Amino acid sequence: MIVPCQVCGEAAQRYRHDWLFRCDEWGVLSADFKVAIPDQATDAGIDEAARAAGLDQLRRRNNETLLATLRDLKPPGPTLLDVGSGPGFLLAQARAAGLTVEGIEPDANTSSAAGARHGYFPDVLGPDEAFDIIVFNDVLEHIPDLTGALAASARHLKPGGLLCLNCPDQRGFFFRTAAILDRLGISGPYDRLWQRGLPSPHVWYFTPHQLRMAAARHGFEPVAVTPLATIELQGLWSRICAARNTSPITALASYAFALATYPLARLLPSDAVATVFRKIG
Ligand SMILES: [Zn+2]
Repeated sequence: MIVPCQVCGEAAQRYRHDWLFRCDEWGVLSADFKVAIPDQATDAGIDEAARAAGLDQLRRRNNETLLATLRDLKPPGPTLLDVGSGPGFLLAQARAAGLTVEGIEPDANTSSAAGARHGYFPDVLGPDEAFDIIVFNDVLEHIPDLTGALAASARHLKPGGLLCLNCPDQRGFFFRTAAILDRLGISGPYDRLWQRGLPSPHVWYFTPHQLRMAAARHGFEPVAVTPLATIELQGLWSRICAARNTSPITALASYAFALATYPLARLLPSDAVATVFRKIG
């Protein structure tokens, strides 16, 4: 089966798994998982409280890094749109930093608590609404219609506005290690990084280069690349256990692996990289 790659437009073919595709041109990886975000408030597949506790410190620090990067790039004004704002952590930190914020969140479990608009980007925006900054913070890799998301970002940014894309990186230490294990027949970590079987799996794994090529097709020029931390020992255990379908053995093995490689992982390529683009014209 061959599908067109949304990044380069060339063919993407099935690759090593019945759910995975890789484009011939640049090696963009995509998965054909179905995204099942609860439209009504429900009992979610991930324990939200455990996940929030596990990620809290890491997320706070990464958000600070993102906001500092955006501030240094001098956006044309103070309005920020956070696409997929989740429980609203970035919204709160951006508001505290003096920005005028709006969030969009399709998950009914979190949208109302964060004061975000409930629905999908860009459907819940007015045709003429425009922002100085649009952020996809661990969100773009969940959106099957990448082309549509980038085109809508260009449409809803003011001239000179900033687009911040924080995505997992194919070149990251954990992804590369998981890919090697997957080739050896140990697929647990690879499935976990793709969030296979979870309500909101990843459907893309990019490199920053691939992301730049994709954004360039929509009139975006890269102005900053910022590696972010993806692992912090504090809260790691609850983070690993927050996925309900993780078996105790897999959880223990993941934790031991993370502990053993922690000093090394901090020196190697990060698994999350934020690229900031400026809308040309
Ligand atoms: Zn491609």
